[in-house]
Amino acid sequence: MLERHLARTKILATLGPASGTTTRIREMARAGADAFRINLSHGDVETRTAWVKKVKRVRKELERPVAILADLRGPRLRLGVLPEPLVLERGQTVRLRAGRKAAAGVLPVDYRGLLKDLVPGHRVLLRDGRVELKVVGLEGRELVCKVRRGDTIDSNQGINLPDSQVSAPVLSARDKRDLAWAAEVGVDWIALSFVRRAKDLVVLRRAMDRAGLDAPVMAKIETPEALRNLDEIVRASNAVMVARGDLAVELGHEVVPIIQKDVIATCLEYAIPVVTATQMLESMILAVQPTRAEVSDVANAVIDGSDAVMLSGETAVGADPVQAVRTMNRIAQKTETRLFRGVRDPRPGLRKVAGSVSITEAATVAAAVAAARQSQAKGILAFTESGRTARLVSSFRSGRPLIGLTANERSFHRMALYWGVRPALIRRFRTVRQMHRNAAATLERASWLRPEDLLVALTGAFSRTGATNTVRLLHLSQLGAVNQRPAES
Ligand code: PEP
Repeated sequence: MLERHLARTKILATLGPASGTTTRIREMARAGADAFRINLSHGDVETRTAWVKKVKRVRKELERPVAILADLRGPRLRLGVLPEPLVLERGQTVRLRAGRKAAAGVLPVDYRGLLKDLVPGHRVLLRDGRVELKVVGLEGRELVCKVRRGDTIDSNQGINLPDSQVSAPVLSARDKRDLAWAAEVGVDWIALSFVRRAKDLVVLRRAMDRAGLDAPVMAKIETPEALRNLDEIVRASNAVMVARGDLAVELGHEVVPIIQKDVIATCLEYAIPVVTATQMLESMILAVQPTRAEVSDVANAVIDGSDAVMLSGETAVGADPVQAVRTMNRIAQKTETRLFRGVRDPRPGLRKVAGSVSITEAATVAAAVAAARQSQAKGILAFTESGRTARLVSSFRSGRPLIGLTANERSFHRMALYWGVRPALIRRFRTVRQMHRNAAATLERASWLRPEDLLVALTGAFSRTGATNTVRLLHLSQLGAVNQRPAES
């Protein structure tokens, strides 16, 4: 509970055949995994349901916040079924047709709007960009393409259309079934692949309402179109993922590092949590140690200010998922130790106020961060119903311990993804006095806190999200005695 040894930058580990046992999940959580991703593009319902149950069992046993993120496939285009793997050679002509089944010289694409979205000159990328086709014409219901870069392709592989505005619906029938599943098993976060604009998130939230699923949403940024609409997407999201795999396919590898920095900077301005993802320790799928370049990549994602860094194949199908998590945690910690050595000014957090964050709330949070710095407080206590106050404080990246105190178990686990936030679950309360007493009882169990430690506490009209308006400086020993109802904002 409220461990010290974990990095402030959170670790999101993808579950898969290599990591789906209770033992592995427990070991990964102990090694530093704060959240687990279930990629809904793969796997069957029974397996995923079992994973959710196992994560819930482990987090209860460890008394630790661990978030479960279900990652929807979204409008990802795929090839249909090929009778066998097919080698495409440079200069060859192939045809694309909407449908599931192949015919002689015709590749099926699982998307009806193909002819509408593609025109001559557009590129079609297959196999993560290893194969490139260029549309040269339209004949009947088929697109004629020239192979510009060839390789072997196979059934159901993903397709990227970097030059087109894909008009596929935000959610497929499969995504809707996945939402119903997520509501039934109870997940903490929903991620949506291939978000194109803010309106996609409106569609997603409506579908979640219909499915009876109440969870925050993470927008995966992976296309040029999403980058053009970045500001509106960030403002409409609860979190964002820099999905570097598809970004590299669509835009080229060389621009991804700078895009990563831009996306993270935009998210920090709005206090929207951001995850840096894909191939962070890729070589550890097979090897026991990462490459120097991978270590630098993780360290740079930490320095850029990512809330979380993600492991994909490393934990889903890798040789040693626990070692991959341990390695990532170590890199993040070492980097943070240097970053926060000595006095470091907090970042100018919350430069832009998104959504329903009020000026009162933004000013109170900024005052708390400043007060903690001025007083050299041991930590900041954010009393929070939804996790939002903790998220806002986190965006300042002050480096001081930040404890998100909540009586809401869902918020407790959701906060696991927020940079530097140590979520703490307190007993339910009816009065402000009880709230402080329950918090004191929880914090007494944190061995690194002493009764004489000075803390900055942020509260508001309790049990109401968005009403944070009070900053107090107090010693831990005084917390249980606080008995003043803060003014309503
Ligand atoms: C990515 O493309 O980087 C990514 C995270 O997407 P996924 O792994 O879901 O394809």
